[in-house]
Amino acid sequence: GRKTGYGRVQVFNHRENFTDLDEIDLTRELGEALEHDQLELYYQPKCQLDNGKLAGVEALIRWNHPQRGLLTPNLFIPLAERFGLINRLGYWVIEQACHQLQQWRNTAFSDISIAINMSVQQLMDPHVIHFLKSCLERYRINRGLEIELTESVILSQERSGLNLLEQISAMGILLNIDDFGTGYSNFSYLRKMPVRFLKIDRSFVTDIEHNKDDQMIVRSILAIGHGLGMQVIAEGVENTGQRDWLRHQQCDLYQGYLLSRPQPLGELESWLSKQF
Ligand code: C2E
Ligand code: CA
Ligand code: CA
Ligand code: CA
Repeated sequence: GRKTGYGRVQVFNHRENFTDLDEIDLTRELGEALEHDQLELYYQPKCQLDNGKLAGVEALIRWNHPQRGLLTPNLFIPLAERFGLINRLGYWVIEQACHQLQQWRNTAFSDISIAINMSVQQLMDPHVIHFLKSCLERYRINRGLEIELTESVILSQERSGLNLLEQISAMGILLNIDDFGTGYSNFSYLRKMPVRFLKIDRSFVTDIEHNKDDQMIVRSILAIGHGLGMQVIAEGVENTGQRDWLRHQQCDLYQGYLLSRPQPLGELESWLSKQF
């Protein structure tokens, strides 16, 4: 079925696969992971559909667990959210991304932007704006950082009347709406929000060549996004048929295994050097 988002369902699905996983253990270990440098950002590039140019990378967190091996975020982000570690984890991601942007300055990679993912809890943290600001200052960054938020995050902002998104945008951080189309059918918020990119959820891309309903949905997303002056990104593009269909419909950017899997920094840099 369609994505379920974060929550108990996914956690339990994972537990079925890793029967020895104990949530309490894992949560304690995650606290240690933050202190002992076991977290790592992998980077997945996104490119323009019309000319193949690099448009930036998305940072996706991984946990190099000393016993359990490489863990993907669906396993531990929900735990971090339930047990109060998500803000520390999120600060680590922000800091790491800013550090990387600084490292790339004055190199061949100086134009690359980094998009980080943030959940609703992270945005609700009263210190997050201050932390973002201080990171940008410490690393002297005035462009190149992007934040990916889901529709539910954005709607929660609208409902609470907060203007955090305006504040973030005023710092020069570009906002992406992630998993677009899976959340809410209320589009009125889009007009008011300082959003630069819409990301079409992978669930609409998978069968795009053959499924007429998905084609209709994706065309509508493109019309809404472009009509409101945004760029549209397709995620989860795995084959050339999907890419060509999207290109033909004037989708702006794509991301997915066809182009590259998420890679550790070193591999990303050698991949970039070969491609561009
Ligand atoms: P997302 O933001 O929707 O990220 C896309 C997910 O799809 C990633 O899974 C990526 O590895 C995977 N993917 C990319 N291209 C393809 C493809 O062509 N085919 C398929 N089948 N999958 C593809 P990943 O890395 O396991 O991340 C899962 C989710 O965890 C992300 O979904 C994001 O919501 C969350 N996440 C990742 N890093 C962070 C983080 O630093 N902070 C927070 N709060 N959430 C994060
Ligand atoms: Ca994302
Ligand atoms: Ca997605
Ligand atoms: Ca997501």
